[in-house]
Amino acid sequence: MASTEESPTTGGAIYLDNNATTRVAPEVVEAMLPFFLDQYGNPSSQHSFGDIVSQAVKTARRQVQRLIGAGAEDEIIFTSGGTEADATALHAALRSQPERRKIITTAVEHPAILAPCEQYRKEGYEVHLLALDGSGQIDLDAYRRLVDERTALVSVMWANNETGRLFPVTEMAALARARGVVFHTDAVQAAGKIPMAVEETAIDMLSLSGHKLHAPKGIGALYLRRGSRFRPLLRGGRQENGRRAGTENAPAIVGLGRAAEMATDRLAELAAMGGLRDRLEQTLLANVPNCMVVGAEGARLPNTSALAFEHLPSEVLLPRLNRAGIAASSGAACSSGSVEPSHVLRALGIPPSYARGAVRFSLSRYTTAADIERVIATLPGLVAELRERSFVWREAADGQGMGSAGGDGHVSGS
Ligand code: PLP
Repeated sequence: MASTEESPTTGGAIYLDNNATTRVAPEVVEAMLPFFLDQYGNPSSQHSFGDIVSQAVKTARRQVQRLIGAGAEDEIIFTSGGTEADATALHAALRSQPERRKIITTAVEHPAILAPCEQYRKEGYEVHLLALDGSGQIDLDAYRRLVDERTALVSVMWANNETGRLFPVTEMAALARARGVVFHTDAVQAAGKIPMAVEETAIDMLSLSGHKLHAPKGIGALYLRRGSRFRPLLRGGRQENGRRAGTENAPAIVGLGRAAEMATDRLAELAAMGGLRDRLEQTLLANVPNCMVVGAEGARLPNTSALAFEHLPSEVLLPRLNRAGIAASSGAACSSGSVEPSHVLRALGIPPSYARGAVRFSLSRYTTAADIERVIATLPGLVAELRERSFVWREAADGQGMGSAGGDGHVSGS
């Protein structure tokens, strides 16, 4: 969302928008540099320049394999990011089973899934968007009724980007397999944030993206279980075993590999990150009246907090937070001048007076306790000040006795 306010981009600003993108880890930059400067060969070339790069790509494939617990390194196909991995998964499943015309996904997927599904719907596919129940969980009864022999693909995200909510993909994949249906998961937000052993599940395909886990933008991967049917989205060269044409982005692949290795080795640190997130939520819930955590009733990523402030639109709060040196993002979609709650917030059915005031704070391994303390020290005062100036808030407060934190007007959970 565009803001006319001055944005602090350096020194002292706190970055809590890691679900949008992450800082590239210095270790990742260091691993990549030689592949710009000295090791610039084409990995397909039959000489020493090519061999060195081809070996580095192989190492990266193993590092990504280890991150997600895949059975074999050749199950990893490098792509230009999460969007391409998602598009490839859809394309592969549908084009390799042209007789099956049904797609099952959820109403809260990322546009990288929803937009191609909409296109397939226009081409004659039957597309089912699973709804969420009152607690923010996928309606599994509806799912069980829908999966059948006409289904070409089930695609369900592992973790939601706006709320961090985890979905039961392992259980859902097992049901799909029992009925002979291909299962894909968009794990762009989940990879590197929760332990994974994809080999031990019935998941056939999984998408991930480098820039969500401290690798650069523009690199990602698709896991494709051995023996799965496949049709390439990008045809041309024989790269990636003929499954994705185009000269490999070797420096970025090396970076993704190094980032995957670091994420695998540092999974234990996530508990501490979850502790910071919980402190942020608990303190704000106790100190800000009429504020709720969206999607808090089930399992969530440890780094994500979607907070919604009643009668305080995020397009009012976010620029003020930005000026105070805190970068977060909204759960609202800004289109043609109007700010509407996102499709995810709408699917969750949170009260309209809260939905426009949803702000997502997403942490990373670089977030410190001091960062969180600063948010805790800043946000309650800002919210009070902005509400004080809001006619809607004052009117609602007069009518309902609002204004004290932790009282009856205090809502938690979705
Ligand atoms: N899927 C999810 C859940 C995402 O959050 C994103 C990015 O925000 C994507 C897919 C797209 O990934 P990329 O930006 O690498 O194309």
